[in-house]
Amino acid sequence: MPIEFEGGCLCEKVRYRSTAKPIVTAHCYCTDCRKIGGTGHATHTVVPFDAFELTGAVTEFDRVADSGNRINRRFCPSCGSALYHTREGLSGMVVIRTSSMDDPELAKPERALYTGSAISWDHLDPDLSNFEKMAPQRATPSQLPE
Ligand SMILES: [Zn+2]
Ligand SMILES: [Zn+2]
Repeated sequence: MPIEFEGGCLCEKVRYRSTAKPIVTAHCYCTDCRKIGGTGHATHTVVPFDAFELTGAVTEFDRVADSGNRINRRFCPSCGSALYHTREGLSGMVVIRTSSMDDPELAKPERALYTGSAISWDHLDPDLSNFEKMAPQRATPSQLPE
């Protein structure tokens, strides 16, 4: 399988690659993503878990999100870069922190989640599908947009 994209943490001890193109990319404005990130929201890119190959050790933080889903976030233990998470309700998928991609231009944000929690100064793109909280449907491969 050809490599579609690669990424990793700031110190380069953790690297990943994906043999699948991004399925969907979304901004999330929830308070957890804000707290953990560097600004008012995080941008996430979903790929199938089977297409995702990780090298290097990551540390984990497990928490039940506002959606009620348990989210397991992975970071580089050396430099602290947020890399990806997996969560209940999205089995078989890995949710990559888009900012960790070597070429984030490959990801095209389509939706904005938890815009009800957005900070007033964090611009919301009116061209995206905006959701007050979680997108209504569960993101399974058959339901995700092409
Ligand atoms: Zn690192
Ligand atoms: Zn979030």
